[in-house]
Amino acid sequence: MTQAETSVDFVRGIIADDNRSGKFGGRVVTRFPPEPNGYLHIGHAKSICLNFGLAADFDGVCHLRFDDTNPSREEMEFVESIQEDVRWLGYDWGDNLFYASDYFGQLYEYATKLIENGKAYVCDLTGDEVREYRGNLTEPGKESPYRNRTVEENLNLFKSMRAGFFEEGSHTLRAKIDMAAPNLNLRDPVLYRILKQTHHRTGDEWPIYPMYDFAHGQSDSIENVTHSVCTLEFEDHRPLYDWFLNELDIYRSQQIEFARLNITHTVLSKRRLIELINGGYVNGWDDPRMPTISGLRRRGYTPEALRNFCDRISVARRDNTVEIALLEHTLRDDLNKRSPRVMGVLDPLKVVIENYPEGKVEDIISTNNPEDLTMGERNVPFTRVVYIEKDDFREVPPPKFYRLSPGREVRLKDAYYITCNSVVKDETTGEVIELRCTYDPNTFGGTSADGRKVRGTAHWVSEEYAVDAEVRVYDHLFTTLDPDDVPEGSDWKDNINPDSMVVMESAKLEPGLNQAKPGERFQFLRLGYFCVDKDSTPEAPIFNRTVALRDTWARMDQDRKKN
Ligand code: ATP
Ligand code: MG
Repeated sequence: MTQAETSVDFVRGIIADDNRSGKFGGRVVTRFPPEPNGYLHIGHAKSICLNFGLAADFDGVCHLRFDDTNPSREEMEFVESIQEDVRWLGYDWGDNLFYASDYFGQLYEYATKLIENGKAYVCDLTGDEVREYRGNLTEPGKESPYRNRTVEENLNLFKSMRAGFFEEGSHTLRAKIDMAAPNLNLRDPVLYRILKQTHHRTGDEWPIYPMYDFAHGQSDSIENVTHSVCTLEFEDHRPLYDWFLNELDIYRSQQIEFARLNITHTVLSKRRLIELINGGYVNGWDDPRMPTISGLRRRGYTPEALRNFCDRISVARRDNTVEIALLEHTLRDDLNKRSPRVMGVLDPLKVVIENYPEGKVEDIISTNNPEDLTMGERNVPFTRVVYIEKDDFREVPPPKFYRLSPGREVRLKDAYYITCNSVVKDETTGEVIELRCTYDPNTFGGTSADGRKVRGTAHWVSEEYAVDAEVRVYDHLFTTLDPDDVPEGSDWKDNINPDSMVVMESAKLEPGLNQAKPGERFQFLRLGYFCVDKDSTPEAPIFNRTVALRDTWARMDQDRKKN
């Protein structure tokens, strides 16, 4: 099916209607228009999935267009990372890679045309004065004293602006619309400003730059975009978008607004993300705690999980906030199918099995993925000394603790039943540093020949064969649902989770895992999903915890169904 017959969201509904009425002759051209002033985040992923998804569903095309009209904040690094991220998400813009800066010449001509038609003027007010004259929602604005310059005077001044004769901030080109318009965007908006800055693509060719509003719609028009899908904050800009196309009498794209993505425990504005980086709260754009696409990728997210997530959250016109638990649920769903199971001990406690012969090694057969038996089995070496998780032992077990404690028997996964007989403590700190245990030789494979059951199963790694690794355990970057919701006098950064990254420096992993390549993903039994960090080497392996196993979304969903 190419034509989306049944519209699954309101944008698809509009396009289906347009195709029926022949508004664009059945053509569908969308675009994803990032400003290259930062790395993409998961909010952008929603827009990418929507725009490229529309093109795919309606047999159209989606352009990637850099809205690069602000040289002061834009860089090639961002242009490159954005392309990498869109490709990684699984989308292809083909030949349709564009830059608003390629249209600077055309936009300059459009501006000249507006001046010639008496619809734009050069204004000498300062930025502050322009703001002051604009008025507000209750008071109309005041007309600029420069508003009634002649066409000729305006043309000359604009040419001088373009020639670089004026200082930054001394002049702007403004549309002549209506200083009393209820919509503030129509109160003679600025179209061009003077900026003596080097642009990452056009160099020093232009001393003036178009404002976003003047560049965006006209770029859509130049590219014959049919449906210009953007987020709700641009709804109030639509009358201006249409005004330009109308006054210039050029191809008319249709702007459609949808609600941006918000996620709990997360901030998504680039301004905030830059603050996190500059303040040293995270280690760069691709820190695995960042909601950036590069951060999520390094964390171990798959493109499929992100696309599935974008499918599940609806495209609507009303603002809402999505639970981060839904994102993690979608991720687990995907990782569960593809990740081989392995054993890793993050916080090791040494276990000596006293009745197991020294030097003996047995192959324990373990299933790689109980959800997908085609992924096969592997052998894991079992020896006299193994590590278990510190957390799987309590000297004095609390109620309902079914794991190991003195006198108790548990199963070592797929291996044997062991019983703890005594503990060895550090003489100065009193901390338990070693368990002395015995095993039952009649429980090979983790089941007892006599049908005896144990309640606890622990994962383990042989001391002799263990791979030493660093494991970084991540949690939400913010402790509160909406980090931006702070009382007077406090700062959103106060909501940063101090435990968002816990580094386990002496983790012990089953043999072979030092050979795993950066980006490879595993489920560590009982602990969660992990992936190899980009900085990992066979000599110094580093793993990131992508997500824990416990699925709070599934639980909340059950609760919802009960009520
Ligand atoms: P930010 O607010 O994070 O700084 P932005 O909107 O300034 O982002 P752009 O590069 O201008 O970033 O965005 C490119 C496209 O992505 C725009 O069409 C924008 O509407 C869309 N977009 C940005 N953030 C979100 C979001 N949270 N949800 C959905 N779409 C978004
Ligand atoms: Mg923006």
